[in-house]
Amino acid sequence: MKKILEMSKKVDSVEVVKSYLSDKTYYDALIIQSEILGSSREFLVERGFVEMLPVIISTITDPLNHDVLDAQIDYYGYKYYVTKSMILQKQVSVLVHDKIFSFSPNLRLEKEEKYDSGRHLIDFVQLDIEIKNKKREEIMDLMEDLIIYVIRNVLEKYSDIIEKYHPSLKIPSKPFKKISVKKAKELYGDEYEKLLSEQSDQPLWLIDFPILEREFYDKQDPKNSDILLDFDLIYPEGFGEGISGGEREHEYEQIVKRIKLKGNGLESYEDYLKIAKEGYLEQSAGCGIGIERFTRFILGLDHVEKTRLFGKAPGKFTI
Ligand code: AMP
Ligand code: MG
Repeated sequence: MKKILEMSKKVDSVEVVKSYLSDKTYYDALIIQSEILGSSREFLVERGFVEMLPVIISTITDPLNHDVLDAQIDYYGYKYYVTKSMILQKQVSVLVHDKIFSFSPNLRLEKEEKYDSGRHLIDFVQLDIEIKNKKREEIMDLMEDLIIYVIRNVLEKYSDIIEKYHPSLKIPSKPFKKISVKKAKELYGDEYEKLLSEQSDQPLWLIDFPILEREFYDKQDPKNSDILLDFDLIYPEGFGEGISGGEREHEYEQIVKRIKLKGNGLESYEDYLKIAKEGYLEQSAGCGIGIERFTRFILGLDHVEKTRLFGKAPGKFTI
């Protein structure tokens, strides 16, 4: 924690309040975001999903595929992680209800250089969705419908705001294009995600990530052990990644193998592995859609920090 305080730029709290009052973007973004939250919830509840409250601290959390500073809390000599994502809890939650969702706050202490992406906060919310016994195609189809539903509602209710910020926004058409990471790399090289996003005017799916490029819980393709049964949604016009998801590993031996393959220690997953070893985990698939990034895309904003009050951007320290 000390390290990030040394690096951070302190943003004065009064200046923060002044910017909320002088820059109408915050006012408008909250209206649009409120619609995104309401429409998404309505969409999922209509389809039989049950909303669960988020898990903020736990004995287990997402290892993530990239390096962030760790946030932990000591409690009576035990250690709680602050949730980086609810993935591991979602896998358990679908044992109780087959179709669940949660608006889950995630704390990821991203390095300050991430600021320039325009897509990173250190404290953000993702709409986390998980379904028991489903394949990834069904999740992707569901998310296409959700995105279309939300954008249609936004355009119907707030065309004046959209006209002001993102006049080219249109309702995407189904099905979204799918492209494997292998193919994307052949076509665009290492910058494939960025270039695909910049050159597209419709959202699209990147699928089949190489096994070491994602976390241990994304399911290995039984027909091709080099790739995963997972996906990312890429927003068009350069707005980049907005969703990650996939089918999940649920068998104990396979989970252990995958954790080791990533070079992670088993100790951090003791409670999760116990549940898997007892055979409780079942096949599931799901994803998370970042609320701030969805808002940023819909409004065509330069940075996600404009989509929140009290937003925490990498490398900044503020109220
Ligand atoms: P992940 O599974 O790590 O890709 O996270 C799921 C989704 O949450 C991403 O597709 C983004 O929409 C969103 N997200 C991830 N990290 C951040 C971040 N640092 N700031 C804002 N949104 C994020
Ligand atoms: Mg991702």
